[in-house]
Amino acid sequence: MARYGMVIDIDRCNGCYNCFLACKDEFSGNNYPPFSAPQPNKGKSWMRLTEKERGTCPKVKVDYIPLPCLQCADAPCVNKAVNGEVYRRPDGIVLIDPEKAVGKREIVSSCPHRVITWNEEKNIPQKCTFCVHLLEQGWKEPRCVEACPTGALLFGDLDDPESEISRAVKSPGIEELNPEYGLKPNVLYRNLPKRFIAGEVLLADQQEACADGIKVTLKDKAGKQVCETDFLGDFEFDGLAPNQTYQIVIEHKRYARQSIEVKTDSNVNLGEIMLNPAG
Ligand code: SF4
Ligand code: SF4
Repeated sequence: MARYGMVIDIDRCNGCYNCFLACKDEFSGNNYPPFSAPQPNKGKSWMRLTEKERGTCPKVKVDYIPLPCLQCADAPCVNKAVNGEVYRRPDGIVLIDPEKAVGKREIVSSCPHRVITWNEEKNIPQKCTFCVHLLEQGWKEPRCVEACPTGALLFGDLDDPESEISRAVKSPGIEELNPEYGLKPNVLYRNLPKRFIAGEVLLADQQEACADGIKVTLKDKAGKQVCETDFLGDFEFDGLAPNQTYQIVIEHKRYARQSIEVKTDSNVNLGEIMLNPAG
């Protein structure tokens, strides 16, 4: 028996909304008993896309976070059900029974990720089903995964040691969305937005020209990362922990070394950093 899961790579998501549209196309007006009733034509998507902006002008980053039901192993929506109206299949897929759940509005608020929507017309709570009706027909992945042009969504059997997803979940950088909820989700993420430190290096003896190819080192207790400034003199370290102290060291043999202590209590743009000739 498979145990289905998904890995969502935020760095690969460009916010094209193809996953959202594929979900709408599959479920709007379509009935798939006993798994799901038709999704309303407008609004109420089962694949939400959240836009997250980080930093302040002129260093602003935008990430898109696709959010389907995370198919949790320890799901409050299942625990809330009193009559089997929300249940987990042996393959890990959590479903809302469209007949038993009629009138059960309280199910909507049971999910801390707020991925359960209320279908006013049908009088039922609804959510992503991992396209279980298609998997039952032999499909290898849900419509959203098939529609994603960048490979941001990876789907498969978490218990198959040969599957790409089982290797992916064991690789570094895999994490849960809001682990503090303690839901043991079968949908996991890579490259969720973290803090960044950025800056721009200029050369004082060259009419403050942009400093291309200058070595910049970021140090913390765990070790160090090194990058070089680009042709605009810009550098950036992303994926950093919040509220941690880092040391930024800027070095070039013809210029005086600069060392700056930075705390990531927010995303940090150090702005223009002027390098003066050595000695
Ligand atoms: S993400 Fe929400 S709706 Fe989905 S299984 Fe977890 S608690 Fe239930
Ligand atoms: S289809 Fe893929 S790239 Fe487009 S928004 Fe969805 S996850 Fe992101």
